[in-house]
Amino acid sequence: MEIGNAKLHRIVDLDPFALPIDFLLPEAKLAEIQTEAATLAPHHVDFDAGTVLLGVQSFVLQVNGLNILIDACIGEDKERPRRLDWHRRTGSGYLEALATAGLRPEDIHVVLCTHLHADHVGWNTRLDNGRWVATFPRARYLTGSSELAHWQEEERIAPGAHNHGAYTDSVLPVIEAGQMDTVDDGFELAAGLSIVPLPGHSPGQVGLDLTYGADEHILFCGDAIHSPVQVFKPLWSSRFCSDPVEAAETRTRLLERSADEGTIIVPSHIRHASGLRVQRCSCGFRPVFV
Ligand SMILES: [Zn+2]
Repeated sequence: MEIGNAKLHRIVDLDPFALPIDFLLPEAKLAEIQTEAATLAPHHVDFDAGTVLLGVQSFVLQVNGLNILIDACIGEDKERPRRLDWHRRTGSGYLEALATAGLRPEDIHVVLCTHLHADHVGWNTRLDNGRWVATFPRARYLTGSSELAHWQEEERIAPGAHNHGAYTDSVLPVIEAGQMDTVDDGFELAAGLSIVPLPGHSPGQVGLDLTYGADEHILFCGDAIHSPVQVFKPLWSSRFCSDPVEAAETRTRLLERSADEGTIIVPSHIRHASGLRVQRCSCGFRPVFV
């Protein structure tokens, strides 16, 4: 996808990743979104199985001479016994998909982890002779300062026993390699490319806002929205949100911004599209896929 003078590639790690709707979104009732089936099926909701269908994918944004990889998915060889489709994976095709986009791991300049959940940091590292090493050897890895502080405190309290052990195998090795930087609200990676706070799904989740053309915006928003279901139902926060009320407030602000300003929103897990714009309707909001 071309956006102004920027290019966007979608690099898929796992698709589909299916979760029962009332597990992912504890307040959800399938009957309440049945009227939106024409928009949500078949790519986003399997109404017969009662599941939400997600993609686990990275976006690579090429702009101003920078190759920026946004969110590093699940990865391979990780011990994830509590989630079998993430456990000891091989043959995901992820690095091959990156190569198809014309990129080698050493071509990535920046890896932005919107937050540090296990499905956003996995490809931060790969196994090399029994050691976890940075997959992207020349990259600066960025995450929110309060996000990193939160998971370092979790690690202090219960080493390795939270977030599927992802801090130990996918975050700490990057810090020890001296490749991790923390960023705060307003940090600019380059002109027109800034960090915005999106708290609620995790304590310090951040997004990336690209300005292009005549003050148009595209906002990479991590898990502020998991599924187009939440465009119709913004108050349905996920089971994995650290503060579901704050997550719903952040999501509602994003949807209002897209509807009012035309901002393209790019959530991490939406399938079969790069992102969406939001329109207002009698039911509230509806997505228009981009
Ligand atoms: Zn996620």
